Formats: sequence, structure tokens, C-alpha cells
Amino acid sequence: MAIQRTFSIIKPDATNRNLTGAINAKFEAAGLRIVAQKRIQLTMAQAGEFYGVHKERPFFGELCEFMCSAPIVAQVLEGEDAIAKNREVMGATNPADAADGTIRKEYALSIGENSVHGSDAPETAAVEIAFFFSGLELVG
Ligand code: ATP
Ligand code: MG
Repeated sequence: MAIQRTFSIIKPDATNRNLTGAINAKFEAAGLRIVAQKRIQLTMAQAGEFYGVHKERPFFGELCEFMCSAPIVAQVLEGEDAIAKNREVMGATNPADAADGTIRKEYALSIGENSVHGSDAPETAAVEIAFFFSGLELVG
């Protein structure tokens, strides 16, 4: 498998609890390099655009409000098979289903407040990285 880049967010429930360093340690231990990172607070419009694929889902409004409720840390992670590897380190969407040792098992509060986002495919990774970062900000 080739070296890939994926997009990651440390969500408000995690930044609120000072878990940025603990979550980054999990990424780095798994061989994922943080090649870009910034702490920002989203507006409702930005959250709605980012999660546009979910706009028909019943939890869309709640999800956007949560994502704007406190700062997030937007990141680009690089490594061998980075998209799948990051999803593995994150664990299942619902922490009740997440495997031991995963970020969501250890830190997520609920299916909504689940500490991290990670791209699910190369196409979405490219779109999500470009939504948050310019090429100049990616330092591999
Ligand atoms: P993410 O896209 O954030 O990496 P995911 O790919 O594991 O997570 P998705 O199905 O894409 O899960 O859902 C996006 C996000 O919407 C979830 O991470 C979670 O924060 C929220 N979400 C998903 N399902 C629910 C639900 N049933 N109730 C409340 N929030 C939900
Ligand atoms: Mg998703």
C-alpha cells in the first residue's frame, strides 16, 4: 500500500476535555504523521457544508451545532494506508461498538460526541483536506 494522506478532526467534546495530546499520541503510535494541524472554531455554515452529505439525516442539526460548540483541531495525517489505518485507530462510530484501545472506545462520550472524524475514502480525503488547508500548509 502506498503512502496516503487523510483528513482528521479532533471534535469539540475532546478539545473541551484537553484530549488533543492524548489523541495525537494514538495517531503517532500507529505510524500516522501529523503533517498539518490547526485549532479553529467552525461557524454553522462551515459545519453544514463540511457535513453536507448528512443533511437529510435526522441528527444533522444536532451534529452541526455540536461541531460549532467549541474549537476543533483540523489535521492532515500521512502514512502507509493512512485512510484505513486512521479509521482503525478511531474505532466504530458508536463508542459502545468500538474495539478496545481505539480512540472512540477510550474517549468518546456518545455516538454523536465521538471525539474524532476521519475521511472514509481517497476522494473524500482530498475534498476534506482542500476544504481546510492550502497546499502550502501541508508539510510532510
Ligand atoms: P465521521 O464522519 O465523523 O468520521 P463516521 O464516518 O464514523 O464519523 P458517519 O456515519 O459519517 O460516521 O456520521 C458522521 C458523524 O455524525 C458521526 O461521527 C457522529 O458524530 C454523527 N452521528 C452519526 N450517527 C449519529 C446518530 N445516530 N446520532 C447522532 N449523531 C450521529
Ligand atoms: Mg463519516
